[in-house]
Amino acid sequence: MKKIPFVTRERLEEICKEYPTPFHIYDEAGIRATARAVNEAFAWNPGFKEYFAVKATPTPGILKILKEEGCGADCSSLTELLLSERCGITGTDVMFSSNETPAEEYVKAAELGAIINLDDITHIDFLEQTIGYIPETICCRYNPGGVYQLGESNEGFQVMDNPGDAKYGMTRAQLFEAFRTLKAKGAKRFGIHAFLASNTISNDYYPALAGQLFELAVELERETGADICFINLSGGVGVDYRPEQPKNDIYAIGAGVREQFERVLTPAGMGDVAIFTEMGRFMLAPHGHLVTRAIHEKHIYKEYIGVDACAANLMRPAIYGAYHHITVMGKEDAPCDHRYDVVGSLCENCDKFAVDRMLPEIERGDLLVIHDTGAHGFSMGYNYNGRLRSAELLLQEDGGVELMRRAETVEDYFATLVW
Ligand SMILES: *Cc1c(COP(=O)(O)O)cnc(C)c1O
Repeated sequence: MKKIPFVTRERLEEICKEYPTPFHIYDEAGIRATARAVNEAFAWNPGFKEYFAVKATPTPGILKILKEEGCGADCSSLTELLLSERCGITGTDVMFSSNETPAEEYVKAAELGAIINLDDITHIDFLEQTIGYIPETICCRYNPGGVYQLGESNEGFQVMDNPGDAKYGMTRAQLFEAFRTLKAKGAKRFGIHAFLASNTISNDYYPALAGQLFELAVELERETGADICFINLSGGVGVDYRPEQPKNDIYAIGAGVREQFERVLTPAGMGDVAIFTEMGRFMLAPHGHLVTRAIHEKHIYKEYIGVDACAANLMRPAIYGAYHHITVMGKEDAPCDHRYDVVGSLCENCDKFAVDRMLPEIERGDLLVIHDTGAHGFSMGYNYNGRLRSAELLLQEDGGVELMRRAETVEDYFATLVW
């Protein structure tokens, strides 16, 4: 589908007077609409909850909107736990899905009353020694091993790899043993979690995963006597970064999971199991733009457009070769008859937002919108070459603009240095 920015050129030029480029801007109306669609698609399951993957967009202004829409937070570090706490997201509204977890993080998660998702069987003892007990509600992460079969993008593999090569989760045998041990140590309510593939463009990913986990849950409950209360399908639902890609249909996905639920869990007498998700990308990616300005034009062996953003603001193209669509503002209907590399200023040749991209003729001063940067965009930013993180703005439902995070300054960069 044609990608249309959620903000006009005129409005952006106005915004730029107050907040110079580059910046990330997020669309409140779109975020709320997606959250509502997700909740509606899974409304058949009374216990359903989306725990937004905080790492995708760790910005309080965003977490508060999602909290208002009924979402919890999926955290995987101490900072993310503290961020959720400061947004008023605590208790079982927090899922703590981490790996190689430092002890202090389990302490904080337990203090918040978060649901702890154990990445490995050895973490049972580690957790007990760290916090002094085993929580009554506990979750274990499963890794089925082998090869993921659902037709996957290269990029998805770079993020997740095949289950058999991924560092996450427990084997099937370990999962059975873990449930027995946890039960003996006093756990009362159990959950299973698995994450098999990233950025899937298939309405079948969640239903296929759910089918596997539901069958496993029935066996686990029968063999270990553990009371399985929830199944966490984690993240991995993707977005159409390319205009020609199909969109995931969250209603079809919800219905597909329901079908598996009614095939496997309901007949087994487990119809009260809650479904949890931990989507990041699907919730936020389409609702963010990286806005940047063309500042240079260079003709050598290829045609380059230099912009004022760089990979430090959006790393995905540099590290995965990820495609992000670009709209040249004000030239939406002009013919795409120029072939450009659109590049940032890092002294790294991978700092290219687009390679051999057909675009309308770009002039210095043109505003460019880089699409689908709302998740894993700003959050993956870094300070290489002394580049600073940009501001994050919210385009509110009434058209107003709110500053959610100011741009970093050189003083911020210097603040950790010891002279
Ligand atoms: C990254 C991550 C997610 C979110 O993944 P998306 O692909 O953004 O949906 C969810 N859960 C865990 C444990 C993760 O590490």
